[in-house]
Amino acid sequence: MKQYNNFINGQWVPAESGDTFVNSNPADTREEVTEYAKGGKSDAQAAIEAAQAAFPGWRDTTAPARGKILSAVANNLASRQAELAELLCREEGKTRVEAGMEVGRTVDIFRFFAGLSYTIGGSVVPHDLPNNMLYTKREPLGVVALITPWNFPIALPAWKLAPALVSGNSVVLKPASLAPAMTLEVAKAFEEAGLPEGVLNVVVGSGKEVGDELATNPAVQALSFTGSHEIGQGIYQQLAPRMTRAQMEMGGKNPTIVLADADLDYAAKIVAMAGYMMTGQVCTATSRAIVEESVADEFTEKLIAEAQSRNVGNGLTEGVNMGPAVSAAELEGNLEYLQIAKDEGAEVLWGGDRLTEGDLEHGHFMSPAVIGNVKNSMRIAQEEVFGPVISVIKAGDFDEAIELANDIEYGLSASIITHDINKAMRYTDRIEAGVVKINQISTGLALQVPFGGVKHSSTNSFKEQGQSAIDFYTRIKSVYLDYSG
Ligand code: NAP
Repeated sequence: MKQYNNFINGQWVPAESGDTFVNSNPADTREEVTEYAKGGKSDAQAAIEAAQAAFPGWRDTTAPARGKILSAVANNLASRQAELAELLCREEGKTRVEAGMEVGRTVDIFRFFAGLSYTIGGSVVPHDLPNNMLYTKREPLGVVALITPWNFPIALPAWKLAPALVSGNSVVLKPASLAPAMTLEVAKAFEEAGLPEGVLNVVVGSGKEVGDELATNPAVQALSFTGSHEIGQGIYQQLAPRMTRAQMEMGGKNPTIVLADADLDYAAKIVAMAGYMMTGQVCTATSRAIVEESVADEFTEKLIAEAQSRNVGNGLTEGVNMGPAVSAAELEGNLEYLQIAKDEGAEVLWGGDRLTEGDLEHGHFMSPAVIGNVKNSMRIAQEEVFGPVISVIKAGDFDEAIELANDIEYGLSASIITHDINKAMRYTDRIEAGVVKINQISTGLALQVPFGGVKHSSTNSFKEQGQSAIDFYTRIKSVYLDYSG
């Protein structure tokens, strides 16, 4: 079992309370994988103080020098990709392939922002008067708090951390208690790369204690959160009285529209991939297949065949392509939603069973589910189910499909499968989502373009990823210079 302390002011320290907790493997709960110092309010306060003290020195370090540290971190993680991926699988339950891709993405994220360090600046703007100069410069904010979920335990902290640090902020990061190991491994890589003490602090502990302190401490200048809408909304309200800068990226209930002209084999493959990869525990997962009525039955048969072809098991076992739910509670939640769907009149056409045979007995496994007879008003069609569950919803035509897709509080990602370029383009105009895909899975993001949702999926304040990520972590100062005298 690997043991971790918190990383505060450049030191690996136990929790002030002395408390610890253990995480076990969701594929086999008999295996205890990691043990952590369980931080609380006072540990979060110590981390914030350390970050405050470290800020002036880091702010005054040039951006390219900060970028070099990010580069060193990228190289360190790249050299340990297989080892980290295995630990990620054992703690969070992804398959080896999924975890390897996530670690690889993390390396690319650090490389991207290391390169961007040479571009963080401002612009020169024409002045109204001669011999005068008008320009803008970007400055870091100060102490920034980051709160992350468990479902991308290394890429997600990285896509907040890299722009935060390269912009010159000091950071206190709280990873989700279900899977903190990757964040602490990234902190180790920063320590080895020579990051000054206190610039990055990681405190593991519950949202109620550590998270609450980050949301209420006046020394925190900005908070970036990713997680559920319910928690994000609560934190947003805590930040509002102090008008603290906030970035909340939250849940999704993502549609893939399948039009009658689509290649249905391809459509079923795409929908299944987007709904079942990473066990459906992806904010951009497809959970609603909205299908033109004339092809809905044929599409559903093909989707069921895709679900049946999933090989569920321990993600470290060769040939397995769908792992367990991250925890007993998540699994229970998924199964509960299937019951709710049935009670509302929907039909579980395939899957949705808890799997306990053989090696699966000690893990949080279920078969991927296909739900039919779904009306858009049902809870199964409206609420986020963070598991491998896809509802098929019939639409009379293209216009109704868009109406159904938009008739929801969320707006994160959305896809359409069609050969009709006119309809595809109209879809991109009318769909209420932050990410739109055509003939592609609703999951999977390019790191070089902005990412974020609309409606209940996001505060819509600032985007993550790509160059725009820097906006959240900097403020712009306008400088007026008169050299006419
Ligand atoms: P969650 O329960 O909302 O937790 C997210 C983070 O918030 C965790 O670190 C959690 O800590 C912390 N937290 C919980 N209560 C808190 C409180 N009162 N104050 C401050 N922090 C608190 O979400 P999750 O189950 O980890 O992740 C799944 C959710 O994330 C899904 O809704 C998914 O759609 C969303 N997600 C969104 C995106 C996106 O970019 N839009 C990406 C990935 C995931 P503890 O768990 O340690 O208590």
